[in-house]
Amino acid sequence: MANKTPITIAYGDGIGPEIMDAVLRILDAAGAQLDKEVIEIGEKLYKKGISSGIEDSSWESLRRTKVFLKAPITTPQGGGVKSLNVTVRKTLGLYANVRPVAAYPPFIETMKPKIDMVIIRENEEDLYAGIEHQQTQEVVQALKLISRPGCERIVRYAFEYARALNRKKVSCITKDNIMKLTDGLFHKVFNEIGAEYPDIEKDHFILDIGTAYVAERPEIFDVIVTLNLYGDVISDVAAEVAGSVGIAGSANIGDGFGMFEAIHGSAPTIAGQNIANPSGLLQGAIQMLVHIGQAEVASKIGNAWLRTIEQGIHTKDIYSYKNSTELVGTKEFADAVIARLGQTPEHFNPVSYTSRTEQKIFKYERKVKKKEIVGVDVFLESILPTNEIATRLQAIGGDGLQLSMIANRGVSVWPEGLPETFLSDHWRCRYLVSEGKTITHSEIVTLLEGITRIGLDFIQIETLCTFDGKIAFSLAQGE
Ligand code: NAD
Repeated sequence: MANKTPITIAYGDGIGPEIMDAVLRILDAAGAQLDKEVIEIGEKLYKKGISSGIEDSSWESLRRTKVFLKAPITTPQGGGVKSLNVTVRKTLGLYANVRPVAAYPPFIETMKPKIDMVIIRENEEDLYAGIEHQQTQEVVQALKLISRPGCERIVRYAFEYARALNRKKVSCITKDNIMKLTDGLFHKVFNEIGAEYPDIEKDHFILDIGTAYVAERPEIFDVIVTLNLYGDVISDVAAEVAGSVGIAGSANIGDGFGMFEAIHGSAPTIAGQNIANPSGLLQGAIQMLVHIGQAEVASKIGNAWLRTIEQGIHTKDIYSYKNSTELVGTKEFADAVIARLGQTPEHFNPVSYTSRTEQKIFKYERKVKKKEIVGVDVFLESILPTNEIATRLQAIGGDGLQLSMIANRGVSVWPEGLPETFLSDHWRCRYLVSEGKTITHSEIVTLLEGITRIGLDFIQIETLCTFDGKIAFSLAQGE
């Protein structure tokens, strides 16, 4: 039919098929105009040896429809396979993960009845780049990559979202007291871009106390913008405090693309028992309808869902003797929502969504700065004592390039260190040029040749740079 919006659907793993079934029945009954293409992803494909968990034909469907309603999938732990969720987000450029969390007192038991926040999580960068190496016999490494365009895009998205949805405040959560360059960049960009939105209040919390406040006094938050890993954790904390991970949905937004899902996983232990709550995926589907211009259907479903909840018709995860009237299974919950389509809630305020086409709000102006190399960190694997490593390294270096510090797992252990510091086989040896000088790549290569000649095993280097004269590397603890 002409007016149907093409969407791609994946039934997922674990409880995925049963909650997807329930949600699609509700969407159809509400009159959503959808032309559905079903793709298979996840566990079944992993088992066939397809380590990406997705086939080429599925990418074609996604690129054609640009709208993806996805049930949760199981990511096998350990090596060999990549998380399909992360792959899809990154391949399609879904840079913003939008996770609204609200409580529904007194019908769904909650620790914090006033919780009503939207967590906007950066979705492509951070430790989720999945760049990991075993560097030495004792040390493994994960790279945390944060880019200025990545920060600018998500922070601007958060402020635009707050403005469009009439939210009053955007809070930034980082750990920049420790990660001064990576989280520091995110915080700095938040301050820069925030200044363009004088109508919106802003504040910043360090991750630990920020997360504690999300759990303990969530009413102080409205919109939260944060880095990928923190957003993942904070949104599950918020959803549990609100009542259940089973009731929160999420949108993953990119330029021209949207993927919609529940925030929870595939819950394999309750799969196939008709007890899972389909509400999280349904909330994701409601966000999808708003995204594709079917806001009226979204409101109709949202109101029928609220009516079902306030009449005490609950799945096991939110059922309580005090607040519920009927314990229902996944299918019966969907039937109850369908039976209430067209009704409005009496206790809760009815919802009324307006379609909102995501604007291409991001313009990035690349500023080229003057870069100079002023030193190099050479990482070594060695079980020699500190002084032996230092004596050998001091013998090389050359004109103006001096060994200035050796650190072990981030703690400076030479020229000064404490005997109590535990030493692993992973060393960072810092060479710096003398004041006013710079070095070239070929001088670094010569240094590395020298290091191999004296019998040391280098595993990685990092050039130490200045940009427009400003130092662009962190100091070791105690340096
Ligand atoms: P989970 O979210 O699947 O389950 C956590 C707890 O919440 C379990 O007790 C589960 O029974 C319960 N729960 C979750 N959803 C529920 C629902 N709709 N109704 C009732 N109870 C519900 O988290 P997990 O156990 O850590 O992960 C299981 C698998 O899901 C893992 O393989 C993980 O990688 C994957 N996962 C996938 C996604 C996704 O596809 N977006 C997200 C998170 C986890």
